[in-house]
Amino acid sequence: MKSVSIVLLFAILACVHGESEELPLAKPCNATACQLPDCRCSDTDIPGGLQPRHTPQFVLLTFDDAISELNTQTYRSMLYGRVNKNQCPIGVTFYMQHEYTDYTMVNELYNQGYEIALHSISHRTPQDFWRNATYDQLMREIGDQKQQIAMFANIPASTITGVRSPFLQMSGNNTFKMMKSAGLTYDLSWPTTRFTNPGLWPYTLDYRSTQDCVVSPCPTASFPGSWVIPMIAWTDLGGFPCSMADACFFQPDTEEGWYQFIIQNFERHYLGNRAPFGFYIHEAFIRPRPHVWRAMERFLDTINNINDIFMVNAKEVIDWVRDPVPINEYAKKECRRTVPSACTGRSCPPLFNPANEKTYYMRVCESCPRNHPWVDNPLGL
Ligand SMILES: [Zn+2]
Repeated sequence: MKSVSIVLLFAILACVHGESEELPLAKPCNATACQLPDCRCSDTDIPGGLQPRHTPQFVLLTFDDAISELNTQTYRSMLYGRVNKNQCPIGVTFYMQHEYTDYTMVNELYNQGYEIALHSISHRTPQDFWRNATYDQLMREIGDQKQQIAMFANIPASTITGVRSPFLQMSGNNTFKMMKSAGLTYDLSWPTTRFTNPGLWPYTLDYRSTQDCVVSPCPTASFPGSWVIPMIAWTDLGGFPCSMADACFFQPDTEEGWYQFIIQNFERHYLGNRAPFGFYIHEAFIRPRPHVWRAMERFLDTINNINDIFMVNAKEVIDWVRDPVPINEYAKKECRRTVPSACTGRSCPPLFNPANEKTYYMRVCESCPRNHPWVDNPLGL
Protein backbone atom coordinates (compact mmCIF):
# COMPACT_ATOMS: atom_id res chain seq x y z
CA MET A 1 0.00 0.00 0.00
CA LYS A 2 2.75 2.36 0.99
CA SER A 3 4.68 1.86 -2.26
CA VAL A 4 1.52 2.47 -4.27
CA SER A 5 1.01 5.84 -2.61
CA ILE A 6 4.66 6.75 -3.22
CA VAL A 7 4.27 5.91 -6.88
CA LEU A 8 1.11 7.99 -6.95
CA LEU A 9 2.91 10.87 -5.27
CA PHE A 10 5.65 10.80 -7.90
CA ALA A 11 3.06 10.71 -10.65
CA ILE A 12 1.39 13.80 -9.22
CA LEU A 13 4.73 15.60 -8.84
CA ALA A 14 5.67 14.71 -12.40
CA CYS A 15 2.37 16.18 -13.60
CA VAL A 16 2.98 19.41 -11.70
CA HIS A 17 6.31 19.78 -13.47
CA GLY A 18 4.77 19.00 -16.83
CA GLU A 19 6.92 15.91 -17.19
CA SER A 20 3.92 13.74 -17.89
CA GLU A 21 4.04 15.19 -21.40
CA GLU A 22 7.68 14.17 -21.81
CA LEU A 23 8.26 12.27 -25.02
CA PRO A 24 9.64 8.73 -24.90
CA LEU A 25 13.42 8.36 -24.94
CA ALA A 26 15.03 7.83 -28.32
CA LYS A 27 16.54 4.38 -28.86
CA PRO A 28 20.29 3.82 -29.21
CA CYS A 29 21.39 4.33 -32.77
CA ASN A 30 21.00 1.42 -35.13
CA ALA A 31 23.63 2.00 -37.80
CA THR A 32 22.02 -0.48 -40.19
CA ALA A 33 18.65 1.23 -40.10
CA CYS A 34 20.04 4.76 -39.87
CA GLN A 35 21.48 5.62 -43.28
CA LEU A 36 22.14 8.75 -45.28
CA PRO A 37 20.72 10.92 -46.70
CA ASP A 38 18.06 11.30 -44.01
CA CYS A 39 19.55 9.62 -40.97
CA ARG A 40 22.98 9.63 -39.35
CA CYS A 41 24.13 8.31 -35.99
CA SER A 42 26.04 10.70 -33.72
CA ASP A 43 29.65 9.69 -34.22
CA THR A 44 33.05 10.87 -35.37
CA ASP A 45 33.14 8.78 -38.57
CA ILE A 46 33.58 10.73 -41.78
CA PRO A 47 30.36 10.56 -43.83
CA GLY A 48 30.53 8.23 -46.81
CA GLY A 49 33.49 6.39 -45.27
CA LEU A 50 35.89 8.86 -46.91
CA GLN A 51 39.55 9.16 -45.98
CA PRO A 52 40.44 12.48 -44.31
CA ARG A 53 42.59 13.48 -47.28
CA HIS A 54 39.58 13.10 -49.61
CA THR A 55 37.24 15.00 -47.30
CA PRO A 56 36.55 18.71 -47.87
CA GLN A 57 37.47 20.74 -44.81
CA PHE A 58 34.46 22.97 -44.22
CA VAL A 59 34.83 26.17 -42.24
CA LEU A 60 31.72 27.69 -40.70
CA LEU A 61 32.13 31.34 -39.87
CA THR A 62 29.08 32.61 -38.00
CA PHE A 63 28.00 35.91 -36.44
CA ASP A 64 25.22 36.28 -33.89
CA ASP A 65 22.70 38.89 -32.73
CA ALA A 66 21.38 42.11 -34.28
CA ILE A 67 22.40 43.05 -37.83
CA SER A 68 22.98 46.80 -37.97
CA GLU A 69 24.52 49.25 -40.39
CA LEU A 70 27.54 49.47 -38.09
CA ASN A 71 28.34 45.76 -37.98
CA THR A 72 27.55 45.37 -41.67
CA GLN A 73 30.46 47.76 -42.32
CA THR A 74 32.73 45.16 -40.74
CA TYR A 75 31.18 42.39 -42.82
CA ARG A 76 31.64 44.41 -46.01
CA SER A 77 35.26 45.07 -45.27
CA MET A 78 36.17 41.59 -44.05
CA LEU A 79 33.99 39.26 -46.13
CA TYR A 80 32.64 40.72 -49.36
CA GLY A 81 34.32 39.50 -52.52
CA ARG A 82 36.09 36.58 -50.83
CA VAL A 83 36.15 33.32 -52.75
CA ASN A 84 37.28 29.83 -51.91
CA LYS A 85 40.17 28.37 -53.84
CA ASN A 86 37.71 26.78 -56.33
CA GLN A 87 36.48 30.34 -57.12
CA CYS A 88 33.09 29.88 -55.48
CA PRO A 89 32.08 32.76 -53.17
CA ILE A 90 32.54 31.99 -49.47
CA GLY A 91 29.60 31.26 -47.18
CA VAL A 92 28.96 32.90 -43.81
CA THR A 93 25.95 32.38 -41.53
CA PHE A 94 24.16 35.05 -39.48
CA TYR A 95 22.08 33.98 -36.47
CA MET A 96 20.07 37.12 -36.11
CA GLN A 97 17.83 38.55 -33.45
CA HIS A 98 15.00 40.90 -34.36
CA GLU A 99 15.63 43.59 -31.75
CA TYR A 100 17.82 46.42 -33.15
CA THR A 101 18.11 44.76 -36.57
CA ASP A 102 18.20 46.86 -39.73
CA TYR A 103 16.37 44.67 -42.24
CA THR A 104 17.82 46.44 -45.26
CA MET A 105 21.20 45.11 -44.10
CA VAL A 106 19.75 41.60 -43.77
CA ASN A 107 18.65 41.88 -47.38
CA GLU A 108 22.14 43.00 -48.40
CA LEU A 109 23.81 40.05 -46.62
CA TYR A 110 21.31 37.67 -48.18
CA ASN A 111 22.08 39.05 -51.63
CA GLN A 112 25.78 38.46 -50.97
CA GLY A 113 24.87 34.77 -50.80
CA TYR A 114 25.22 34.41 -47.04
CA GLU A 115 22.82 32.41 -44.91
CA ILE A 116 20.28 34.11 -42.67
CA ALA A 117 19.19 32.03 -39.69
CA LEU A 118 17.14 32.39 -36.52
CA HIS A 119 18.27 33.55 -33.08
CA SER A 120 14.90 34.71 -31.64
CA ILE A 121 12.86 37.89 -31.75
CA SER A 122 13.74 39.31 -28.32
CA HIS A 123 16.93 37.50 -27.23
CA ARG A 124 15.59 38.23 -23.76
CA THR A 125 17.35 37.69 -20.46
CA PRO A 126 17.63 35.81 -18.18
CA GLN A 127 19.12 32.73 -19.72
CA ASP A 128 16.72 30.67 -17.57
CA PHE A 129 13.86 31.87 -19.74
CA TRP A 130 15.36 29.82 -22.57
CA ARG A 131 16.18 26.84 -20.37
CA ASN A 132 12.57 26.59 -19.21
CA ALA A 133 10.89 27.80 -22.42
CA THR A 134 7.81 25.85 -23.44
CA TYR A 135 7.09 24.74 -26.98
CA ASP A 136 4.60 27.62 -27.25
CA GLN A 137 7.08 30.23 -26.11
CA LEU A 138 9.69 28.95 -28.55
CA MET A 139 7.19 29.05 -31.40
CA ARG A 140 6.45 32.69 -30.63
CA GLU A 141 10.11 33.68 -30.18
CA ILE A 142 11.76 31.60 -32.92
CA GLY A 143 9.15 29.87 -35.10
CA ASP A 144 7.45 33.21 -35.80
CA GLN A 145 10.77 34.89 -36.55
CA LYS A 146 10.99 33.11 -39.89
CA GLN A 147 7.97 34.95 -41.38
CA GLN A 148 9.10 38.14 -39.69
CA ILE A 149 12.48 38.12 -41.46
CA ALA A 150 10.93 37.06 -44.75
CA MET A 151 8.54 40.00 -44.55
CA PHE A 152 10.85 42.81 -43.47
CA ALA A 153 14.04 41.76 -45.29
CA ASN A 154 12.09 40.61 -48.35
CA ILE A 155 13.77 37.23 -48.60
CA PRO A 156 12.14 33.82 -49.16
CA ALA A 157 11.11 32.13 -45.90
CA SER A 158 12.15 28.82 -47.47
CA THR A 159 15.82 29.89 -47.35
CA ILE A 160 15.70 30.14 -43.54
CA THR A 161 16.36 26.66 -42.18
CA GLY A 162 18.69 26.99 -39.19
CA VAL A 163 18.55 28.11 -35.60
CA ARG A 164 20.89 28.96 -32.75
CA SER A 165 19.33 29.37 -29.30
CA PRO A 166 20.17 32.59 -27.43
CA PHE A 167 23.02 31.95 -24.95
CA LEU A 168 23.31 28.48 -26.57
CA GLN A 169 20.56 27.56 -24.13
CA MET A 170 18.31 24.91 -25.62
CA SER A 171 15.12 23.80 -23.93
CA GLY A 172 15.62 20.08 -24.54
CA ASN A 173 12.91 18.41 -26.59
CA ASN A 174 10.88 21.63 -26.85
CA THR A 175 13.53 23.18 -29.08
CA PHE A 176 13.28 20.35 -31.58
CA LYS A 177 9.48 20.17 -31.40
CA MET A 178 9.46 23.84 -32.32
CA MET A 179 11.95 23.25 -35.14
CA LYS A 180 9.77 20.57 -36.63
CA SER A 181 6.64 22.75 -36.57
CA ALA A 182 8.54 25.73 -37.96
CA GLY A 183 10.05 23.69 -40.78
CA LEU A 184 13.65 24.15 -39.62
CA THR A 185 16.31 21.66 -40.65
CA TYR A 186 19.18 22.08 -38.24
CA ASP A 187 20.33 23.45 -34.90
CA LEU A 188 23.75 24.98 -34.25
CA SER A 189 23.64 25.61 -30.50
CA TRP A 190 24.78 22.37 -28.94
CA PRO A 191 28.38 22.54 -27.69
CA THR A 192 30.59 19.51 -27.27
CA THR A 193 33.78 19.51 -25.24
CA ARG A 194 34.14 15.73 -25.31
CA PHE A 195 34.17 15.12 -29.07
CA THR A 196 36.76 17.64 -30.18
CA ASN A 197 39.54 15.35 -31.40
CA PRO A 198 38.35 13.57 -33.44
CA GLY A 199 35.41 15.92 -33.87
CA LEU A 200 31.75 14.97 -33.90
CA TRP A 201 30.24 15.25 -37.38
CA PRO A 202 26.67 16.57 -37.88
CA TYR A 203 24.02 13.94 -37.25
CA THR A 204 20.26 13.50 -36.99
CA LEU A 205 18.14 12.92 -33.92
CA ASP A 206 16.30 9.86 -35.22
CA TYR A 207 18.13 7.95 -32.51
CA ARG A 208 19.67 8.78 -29.14
CA SER A 209 22.53 11.24 -29.28
CA THR A 210 25.83 10.27 -27.69
CA GLN A 211 26.90 13.91 -27.49
CA ASP A 212 27.83 15.35 -24.08
CA CYS A 213 25.27 17.80 -22.72
CA VAL A 214 27.26 20.88 -21.71
CA VAL A 215 24.28 23.24 -21.35
CA SER A 216 21.30 21.17 -20.19
CA PRO A 217 18.59 20.32 -21.01
CA CYS A 218 19.47 18.57 -24.26
CA PRO A 219 16.93 16.65 -26.35
CA THR A 220 16.26 13.05 -25.33
CA ALA A 221 13.44 12.06 -27.68
CA SER A 222 13.56 10.97 -31.31
CA PHE A 223 13.19 13.71 -33.94
CA PRO A 224 13.53 11.99 -37.30
CA GLY A 225 15.34 14.06 -39.88
CA SER A 226 16.30 16.92 -37.52
CA TRP A 227 19.99 17.74 -37.80
CA VAL A 228 22.45 18.77 -35.11
CA ILE A 229 25.64 20.56 -36.12
CA PRO A 230 27.69 20.11 -32.96
CA MET A 231 29.59 23.18 -31.79
CA ILE A 232 33.00 21.63 -31.39
CA ALA A 233 34.82 23.59 -28.70
CA TRP A 234 38.10 25.39 -29.18
CA THR A 235 40.86 25.04 -26.61
CA ASP A 236 42.05 28.32 -25.10
CA LEU A 237 45.62 29.17 -24.09
CA GLY A 238 45.00 27.76 -20.61
CA GLY A 239 43.72 24.46 -22.04
CA PHE A 240 40.06 25.24 -21.28
CA PRO A 241 37.28 24.63 -23.80
CA CYS A 242 35.25 27.48 -25.32
CA SER A 243 32.27 27.14 -27.67
CA MET A 244 32.58 30.61 -29.15
CA ALA A 245 35.95 32.10 -30.07
CA ASP A 246 35.22 35.36 -28.28
CA ALA A 247 34.24 33.50 -25.11
CA CYS A 248 37.65 31.88 -24.67
CA PHE A 249 39.02 32.85 -21.26
CA PHE A 250 42.77 32.76 -21.82
CA GLN A 251 43.15 34.73 -25.03
CA PRO A 252 46.18 36.00 -26.92
CA ASP A 253 46.66 39.77 -26.92
CA THR A 254 48.54 40.28 -30.17
CA GLU A 255 47.71 39.80 -33.82
CA GLU A 256 50.32 37.09 -34.23
CA GLY A 257 49.08 35.39 -31.06
CA TRP A 258 45.50 35.36 -32.35
CA TYR A 259 46.56 34.10 -35.75
CA GLN A 260 48.46 31.20 -34.20
CA PHE A 261 45.58 30.56 -31.80
CA ILE A 262 43.09 30.22 -34.67
CA ILE A 263 45.46 28.05 -36.69
CA GLN A 264 46.11 25.71 -33.77
CA ASN A 265 42.41 25.15 -33.23
CA PHE A 266 41.84 24.75 -36.94
CA GLU A 267 44.59 22.15 -37.31
CA ARG A 268 42.89 19.85 -34.83
CA HIS A 269 40.18 19.50 -37.49
CA TYR A 270 42.24 19.75 -40.65
CA LEU A 271 44.88 17.26 -39.56
CA GLY A 272 42.25 15.07 -37.88
CA ASN A 273 38.92 13.73 -39.13
CA ARG A 274 38.03 17.00 -40.85
CA ALA A 275 34.82 17.57 -38.91
CA PRO A 276 33.56 21.05 -39.89
CA PHE A 277 35.57 23.79 -38.19
CA GLY A 278 33.36 26.31 -36.41
CA PHE A 279 34.53 29.87 -36.08
CA TYR A 280 31.75 31.35 -33.97
CA ILE A 281 32.08 34.97 -32.97
CA HIS A 282 30.25 38.29 -32.43
CA GLU A 283 31.08 41.33 -34.52
CA ALA A 284 30.97 43.51 -31.38
CA PHE A 285 34.03 41.62 -30.16
CA ILE A 286 36.03 42.22 -33.34
CA ARG A 287 35.28 45.89 -34.00
CA PRO A 288 37.16 47.36 -31.03
CA ARG A 289 40.06 44.85 -31.32
CA PRO A 290 42.15 45.54 -34.43
CA HIS A 291 44.55 42.73 -33.56
CA VAL A 292 41.71 40.19 -33.67
CA TRP A 293 40.34 41.71 -36.86
CA ARG A 294 43.72 41.52 -38.62
CA ALA A 295 44.39 37.98 -37.39
CA MET A 296 40.99 36.88 -38.69
CA GLU A 297 41.67 38.41 -42.09
CA ARG A 298 45.03 36.66 -42.23
CA PHE A 299 43.39 33.38 -41.35
CA LEU A 300 40.72 33.85 -44.03
CA ASP A 301 43.40 34.79 -46.59
CA THR A 302 45.27 31.61 -45.68
CA ILE A 303 42.35 29.21 -45.98
CA ASN A 304 40.93 30.87 -49.09
CA ASN A 305 44.15 29.82 -50.81
CA ILE A 306 44.06 26.14 -49.96
CA ASN A 307 42.46 23.69 -52.37
CA ASP A 308 40.65 21.44 -49.92
CA ILE A 309 39.24 24.10 -47.57
CA PHE A 310 35.79 25.60 -48.16
CA MET A 311 34.06 28.37 -46.23
CA VAL A 312 30.37 27.62 -46.64
CA ASN A 313 26.96 28.45 -45.24
CA ALA A 314 26.03 26.16 -42.36
CA LYS A 315 23.19 24.55 -44.28
CA GLU A 316 25.60 23.60 -47.07
CA VAL A 317 27.43 21.35 -44.63
CA ILE A 318 24.21 19.42 -44.11
CA ASP A 319 23.79 19.16 -47.89
CA TRP A 320 27.28 17.66 -48.16
CA VAL A 321 26.82 15.24 -45.26
CA ARG A 322 23.60 13.99 -46.84
CA ASP A 323 25.47 13.32 -50.06
CA PRO A 324 29.19 13.10 -49.26
CA VAL A 325 31.46 13.37 -52.28
CA PRO A 326 35.26 13.55 -52.31
CA ILE A 327 37.11 16.86 -52.68
CA ASN A 328 37.93 16.57 -56.38
CA GLU A 329 34.25 16.11 -57.18
CA TYR A 330 33.05 18.73 -54.68
CA ALA A 331 35.44 21.43 -55.91
CA LYS A 332 34.08 21.09 -59.46
CA LYS A 333 30.44 21.51 -58.47
CA GLU A 334 28.51 24.54 -59.55
CA CYS A 335 28.71 27.37 -57.05
CA ARG A 336 25.79 28.19 -54.79
CA ARG A 337 23.41 30.65 -56.42
CA THR A 338 21.15 33.14 -54.69
CA VAL A 339 18.14 34.55 -56.51
CA PRO A 340 18.54 38.31 -56.03
CA SER A 341 15.90 39.96 -53.92
CA ALA A 342 15.08 43.66 -54.15
CA CYS A 343 14.87 46.08 -51.25
CA THR A 344 13.46 49.59 -51.56
CA GLY A 345 14.63 50.56 -48.08
CA ARG A 346 12.45 52.55 -45.73
CA SER A 347 13.17 54.20 -42.41
CA CYS A 348 10.07 53.72 -40.31
CA PRO A 349 8.69 56.36 -37.97
CA PRO A 350 9.46 55.67 -34.28
CA LEU A 351 7.53 52.66 -33.07
CA PHE A 352 6.71 52.23 -29.40
CA ASN A 353 6.89 48.76 -27.92
CA PRO A 354 4.50 48.50 -24.93
CA ALA A 355 6.05 45.20 -23.83
CA ASN A 356 9.34 46.83 -22.79
CA GLU A 357 8.39 50.50 -23.14
CA LYS A 358 11.20 51.20 -25.60
CA THR A 359 10.96 53.14 -28.86
CA TYR A 360 12.54 51.62 -31.96
CA TYR A 361 13.65 53.08 -35.30
CA MET A 362 13.34 50.19 -37.72
CA ARG A 363 14.59 50.04 -41.27
CA VAL A 364 12.77 47.63 -43.54
CA CYS A 365 12.72 46.76 -47.22
CA GLU A 366 9.19 47.52 -48.29
CA SER A 367 6.36 48.73 -46.07
CA CYS A 368 6.67 49.83 -42.47
CA PRO A 369 4.54 48.03 -39.89
CA ARG A 370 1.86 49.97 -37.98
CA ASN A 371 3.02 48.66 -34.63
CA HIS A 372 6.36 47.54 -33.35
CA PRO A 373 6.85 43.91 -34.37
CA TRP A 374 7.48 41.79 -31.31
CA VAL A 375 6.74 38.43 -29.72
CA ASP A 376 3.01 37.62 -30.26
CA ASN A 377 2.85 40.19 -33.07
CA PRO A 378 5.88 39.40 -35.24
CA LEU A 379 4.61 41.35 -38.24
CA GLY A 380 3.57 44.42 -36.24
CA LEU A 381 -0.03 44.29 -37.50
ZN1 LIG B 1 23.13 35.88 -29.08
